[in-house]
Amino acid sequence: KLSGVFEGLSKRGKLSEDDVAEAMREVRLAMLDADVALPVVRDFTNKVRERAVGAEVLDSISPGQAVAKIVNDALIDALGGAGAVPLTLSAPAPIPFLMVGLQGSGKTTTSGKIALRLTNRERKKVLLASLDVQRPAAQLQLQQLAERAGVASLPIVPGQQPVEIARRAMEVGRREGYDVVILDTAGRLSIDEALMQEVRDVRAATSPAETLLVVDAMTGQDAVNTAQRFNEAVGITGVVMSRMDGDARGGAALSMRAITGAPIKLAGTGEKLEALEEFHPERVAGRILGLGDIAGLVEKASETIDQEESERLAKKMLAGKFDLDDYASQIRQINKLGSVSGILGMLPGMGKLKDVLESKDVDTAAIFRKQLAIISSMTKDERKTPAIIKASRKKRIAAGSGTSVQEVNKLLKQFDDMSTVMKRINKMGLGGMKKMLSG
Ligand code: GDP
Ligand code: MG
Repeated sequence: KLSGVFEGLSKRGKLSEDDVAEAMREVRLAMLDADVALPVVRDFTNKVRERAVGAEVLDSISPGQAVAKIVNDALIDALGGAGAVPLTLSAPAPIPFLMVGLQGSGKTTTSGKIALRLTNRERKKVLLASLDVQRPAAQLQLQQLAERAGVASLPIVPGQQPVEIARRAMEVGRREGYDVVILDTAGRLSIDEALMQEVRDVRAATSPAETLLVVDAMTGQDAVNTAQRFNEAVGITGVVMSRMDGDARGGAALSMRAITGAPIKLAGTGEKLEALEEFHPERVAGRILGLGDIAGLVEKASETIDQEESERLAKKMLAGKFDLDDYASQIRQINKLGSVSGILGMLPGMGKLKDVLESKDVDTAAIFRKQLAIISSMTKDERKTPAIIKASRKKRIAAGSGTSVQEVNKLLKQFDDMSTVMKRINKMGLGGMKKMLSG
């Protein structure tokens, strides 16, 4: 939907107020659609409008791309900037992490996930402790989770109150040399003073390095209210959004960040203990705008790439029998995936080329569309044996595809270059190719 409006912006030079206003209307709808709170949307679009009106459009990109880039960058900023904010691990051991949130938000599961992650990735010795004395089986649930994760959990002592359990956990943590102690608290169905007081008491007793609020991304606007209340009542250092595997479009993340100022540190993406990821503002920005995110692209790629067709093309390439029909088929496959630079990024060794494409902001989709038009204006023989395409044929093909002879030449040259590379790769063998790509 968005790309339609952005493509419609066709004038060159400076971005006009009208250009930007039109695009902003669409951005606003997309954001509301993604469940971003209205005041946050208003604030955001105002800021972007200021940034965009009058901005210079470089010759190499279209105005639509220019606006899209400004919107996307601003969205990433609003979500906390590029990259993910890591968990605080610099405090003296044992470092207490306090997990808070409503009942069913995913606190206990997330505690287990974080424990597993810190154990595997950071080589930390982690102790899990459940302070949930509200539900009879809660402490047992965490203990079983800990066993599954291969992480230690605090032995259960019946009858102890949350603050006592927290103190005991820290004591065991110190005595037994744990790096991190994760304190999983009880939730309530809704926020009440008793819950907040309990959290405050545990905080006072343990001075946690992180007070992580776990919120269910699927609850949208409610998640934002929850975050605001928790932040006001106990203060949070970060947010974990659970159930990002659902079809929540991430708007809550933007509102939450804007309203609480606390960074979103992690995202839960499933029920399994491994299903925890760093929160990437750039991916969520893409999700909100529907401009395609790289993570989604990887998924889409595996669905869309026709394995057999790729293999057939690869074989023909290596045999030096690759013709313009195959080239067109390859372009179509790439086009199905949406973003060429994204795909290049997924291929080992192609990162450099991706950087080049991205730095120039080349509209590869448009280039490919043109190339497909040129190829489809050729005869079968011309596609099989491009060498027969001389001046008069070039003129005919250019006219048929609504392009110019230069553009036809450019395509033929590119195909030629590719064939040359293929031949060289053939000579070098696969080992040589790897060397070339990594060098
Ligand atoms: P708590 O009451 O806050 O401790 O919530 P739990 O950790 O017990 O989780 C409640 C339910 O949500 C469980 O069935 C979990 O498996 C599920 N859950 C937690 N995180 C995620 C997630 O990221 N994705 C999905 N799909 N389910 C989750
Ligand atoms: Mg729980």
